[in-house]
Amino acid sequence: MIEYILAREFQGLMYYLTACLLFLIITPRVSFMRFGRKLLFVGILAAMSYFYLGYEEIDPLVYAFHLVPVCVALIAIYEGWIPGVATAAAFIWGNIFIAGNEWMPATIASSLVAAAGIAYHYRMPSPETLKRMLTTHFLLVVGYMALFIGVSIATREPLDYERMLVTGIGTLLSSPLVAYTYYLVKHQERLTEELFNAEKYHLIGQLTASISHEIRNPLTTARGFLQLMGRSGLDAETLERYRTNALEGIDGANAIITDYLNYSKPSVDEPRLLDVRQELASVEQWVKPLCVMTGVELVSRHNVQEELLVVGDSKKLQQCLLNVMKNAIESMPEGGVLTVSSRKENGKVLIFIRDTGIGMNEQQLQRIGMPFYTTKEKGTGLGLMVVTNLIQAMGGKLHFRSKPGQGTICEVHLPIQKDDEPVIPQPAR
Ligand code: ADP
Ligand code: MG
Repeated sequence: MIEYILAREFQGLMYYLTACLLFLIITPRVSFMRFGRKLLFVGILAAMSYFYLGYEEIDPLVYAFHLVPVCVALIAIYEGWIPGVATAAAFIWGNIFIAGNEWMPATIASSLVAAAGIAYHYRMPSPETLKRMLTTHFLLVVGYMALFIGVSIATREPLDYERMLVTGIGTLLSSPLVAYTYYLVKHQERLTEELFNAEKYHLIGQLTASISHEIRNPLTTARGFLQLMGRSGLDAETLERYRTNALEGIDGANAIITDYLNYSKPSVDEPRLLDVRQELASVEQWVKPLCVMTGVELVSRHNVQEELLVVGDSKKLQQCLLNVMKNAIESMPEGGVLTVSSRKENGKVLIFIRDTGIGMNEQQLQRIGMPFYTTKEKGTGLGLMVVTNLIQAMGGKLHFRSKPGQGTICEVHLPIQKDDEPVIPQPAR
């Protein structure tokens, strides 16, 4: 009997964990609104329940005394009211119509447990800790079991205590297991989100370092001229020259700060007509200090003088170009040449960013752009993933060619915008 009950318990759990894993695997890959995520969960759960209830042999006691408490408590605690209520309703329905149990014990117990779990979900201190999640889940499961037995006794349900004992032990043991698995995968999802943000701040941090270097130059010059102005016996013309030079230095520093503040502002989706050359020119301004610091020569080669028009969000396109150029510069720690060029071809705008750095072999080329793939000590491996996403959202493509020891060419292909076509905003992520 013990083996039979345990086997049924495992079987139910397998289905349930599969549903949880499917949900947690799908959500980070698709950008859902919060509400959409919850509906997705309900959908997956319904599909899994369909197979489980329709095609598996179900033990009524295992269903009511094991699966229901473990699952209802878990989802109520972790996912809030929509999935919580849906799970409770689905299990109550299955308990009556499929498992064929008496309706009262499981209905009362699971409704109360779902309500308690949902209440906890919205009061949960953030960030939730593993210990707190495991304890709450365990307490809710124990609460369910007590309610179930209580209501059964009150309604004079016949109880098979021996089978209940075995099933109950299985339930208590699987509670931490299930809650722990769910916590781990869910935590992974949050970690990914945090890393996304980390990459952004990392980039801004590095920019800040190079930008403060860039600001210092004009300020030092200005200081020098101000100092010179203090000398005695200067004629009016020299004095005026010094004054103009000092002001120019301060204006230069001011311009850098203004541009930087524009860059670090959170960007909004504003698809409009962009001239690729202008975008490239402003990004080149940004990477210049980085180039100087690492001894890289920046060569900008744009053959034709006509405008290269595309539709997109200026900040996002700049972010992409900046990421690619930064990678190129980082691949040349000993210095080298960074060549940026652009042209029109077959109805596309092509941008080439070429470096003479360490290059990549076939395997490395296949892996770039995958989340977390990095060969750098302080890299996040998210830069190119973000770039790929943004370029795709603009209807474009990213292509790399590389040889180890020789360098890399990154090609960005963007659909060209004809002057007479209306600007149709693309949904960008
Ligand atoms: P990160 O720069 O944080 O490592 P990226 O997604 O920007 O993350 O790049 C992923 C990896 O791709 C880098 O760690 C590097 O190994 C490789 N890579 C990208 N661009 C180049 C390049 N121009 N030359 C050599 N390797 C590159
Ligand atoms: Mg990078």
